[in-house]
Amino acid sequence: MPIHTYILNNRVKMSAFPRLLTHLLPIFIIGCLCFSGCTAMKEAQQRREARIKKQRDEQYLLLTPAKDDSFQIGEGAQTAESTHYTITFAEDLKEDENFDEISERSVYAESALAYMESLYNEMNAVFGFQPEHKIHVTLHKIYRGTTNVATTTTQYNYRSQGNTTLKTVTGIKMDFPIPMYEKPTTRVHELTHAFTNIYFLPTWFNEGIAVLMETEWAKGGLPPKFDNLETHLKRNMDGINDLEDWASHGGSSRLTQWRYSYAYTIVSELRKRYGPDYYIKVFRLMDADQLHNKLPSKMSTSFLVYYLSQAAGVDLVPFFTKYAFKVQKLTKSDILMNINQMNR
Ligand SMILES: [Zn+2]
Repeated sequence: MPIHTYILNNRVKMSAFPRLLTHLLPIFIIGCLCFSGCTAMKEAQQRREARIKKQRDEQYLLLTPAKDDSFQIGEGAQTAESTHYTITFAEDLKEDENFDEISERSVYAESALAYMESLYNEMNAVFGFQPEHKIHVTLHKIYRGTTNVATTTTQYNYRSQGNTTLKTVTGIKMDFPIPMYEKPTTRVHELTHAFTNIYFLPTWFNEGIAVLMETEWAKGGLPPKFDNLETHLKRNMDGINDLEDWASHGGSSRLTQWRYSYAYTIVSELRKRYGPDYYIKVFRLMDADQLHNKLPSKMSTSFLVYYLSQAAGVDLVPFFTKYAFKVQKLTKSDILMNINQMNR
């Protein structure tokens, strides 16, 4: 259950999003057992297919480790560093029998950095940008009292520039218990957040992109996509798409699972309509304007829809209105006017 934490001027504002993968896996397996038919032969065939699929997916995810001469293992192999990452072994992990020797930590860190550098390069190619800061990864035996929570934290602060307040990212860190780190899809999901958090996106879009990456790009995870956005729509008490309320942790796990699936389905649908490079265009447009840094909080869906429409070349307000998002059509001057108002 990765939790994505945003630290704001040392005040911790936390949003915990139990992860689909962890929750859906048992449901998926039970589903297979219930509906796989009666004959032993059929079951064996399905097991074989599942094994082949698993092997194929894992092979796909095992990118060639990057050859990076700048890997540095710190004293006592407590930490290690590469071009885009640092790795730290948490105290509880250093007491584990698999990590209590310098040589064990050294080998693990080198392999982890090589793999993650490779993944970083792939992500950079997919998104067309990279975060400015190094990503500080801490590996734990147990994290937040469990072995199934991983977190990506983007730290930022505010500074004044003329009569505008600018948000500036000051650091990115990730925390994984070893069992979560060892799931390739979790690394892809979390690294997606490390890349896209710099745009302060609405939560639903941030999670939708992360699930898209882990399922469609990394070919892992489960297929949680809905076949129809209309029939699966959930509204809050105000009649608004419930995704708009997805800002902080909490809610039933059933609702959370729906949120991941619905967000992913929207993100995937737009990519299908406007092409594989669609989100590269969206992020490029945001990056060119640098307006996301001037917003007092996270991006609103209307603000996002402005960029989604620009990249698509089509007004997407009707699309989002159809699925009960509370959005209005904005122009760039509306956005600038709103930023000025907020800074008054
Ligand atoms: Zn996430």
